[in-house]
Amino acid sequence: MYLLLMGPPGAGKGTQAAKLVERYDIPHVSTGDIFRGALQERTPLGLEAKRYMDVGALVPDQVTVGITRERLAKSDCIGGFILDGFPRTLQQAHSLDQMLAKMGIRLNKVVNIVVPDQELIPRLTGRRICQSCGATYHMEFRPPAQPSICDRCGGELYQRTDDQEETVRERLEVYRLQTQPLIQYYQERDLYSEINGAQSTEAVFRDIVVSLTGEEP
Ligand code: ADP
Ligand code: ADP
Ligand code: ZN
Repeated sequence: MYLLLMGPPGAGKGTQAAKLVERYDIPHVSTGDIFRGALQERTPLGLEAKRYMDVGALVPDQVTVGITRERLAKSDCIGGFILDGFPRTLQQAHSLDQMLAKMGIRLNKVVNIVVPDQELIPRLTGRRICQSCGATYHMEFRPPAQPSICDRCGGELYQRTDDQEETVRERLEVYRLQTQPLIQYYQERDLYSEINGAQSTEAVFRDIVVSLTGEEP
């Protein structure tokens, strides 16, 4: 299954992708995770991406398209993938179409997770990530059993520098201006589904599975 997960920052794309990976056993391809991984390793890509991420701006299309093309070319993506956080501009959407055409595949579904802005801000400012395994928590909505320690692997939890309120507001504005127009782009094809993301994690997951398969999970 070739799936595109869309939605504003904090909509729950990463959280839902983790559940979909478990169910469908296909890789989760997140451009944000790729950039953060590169930054942790201090590669030139990571250091360049940091300049944009820190201020809530988008990394230039040329760079982002390049790393996505490389990632999708890996053998684990042959049978399917969950694309999260890409495309974020119309230019990226056109590039994705070209990449998929070259690979001889088509998206099966575009799922847009919709959450009102006033819920996104507390979700993002309360988000915590495991330094070791990347699992996502929330101080209030999904707290770890022990403060600052990952339930899954015992790793230390941290707050992303771009999850400070000021940067969050900038990212939501960038989303509105640059990414929101993609909704129309995909709406014009019949593979687009909108999911109400302002529900429990489990209810959102159920709605996504229903939209993918037409069956309750
Ligand atoms: P995205 O990948 O779209 O930016 P995340 O999956 O990282 O979003 O979720 C953002 C934050 O909101 C995280 O702290 C996560 O634990 C929390 N979260 C995710 N889904 C829900 C939900 N349905 N209800 C409340 N909080 C949620
Ligand atoms: P979220 O879902 O919370 O917005 P991501 O982890 O997807 O966060 O992205 C974090 C940052 O990485 C973005 O604010 C942006 O700077 C950069 N980034 C991720 N994906 C893209 C993309 N497709 N195009 C440009 N920049 C991106
Ligand atoms: Zn962990």
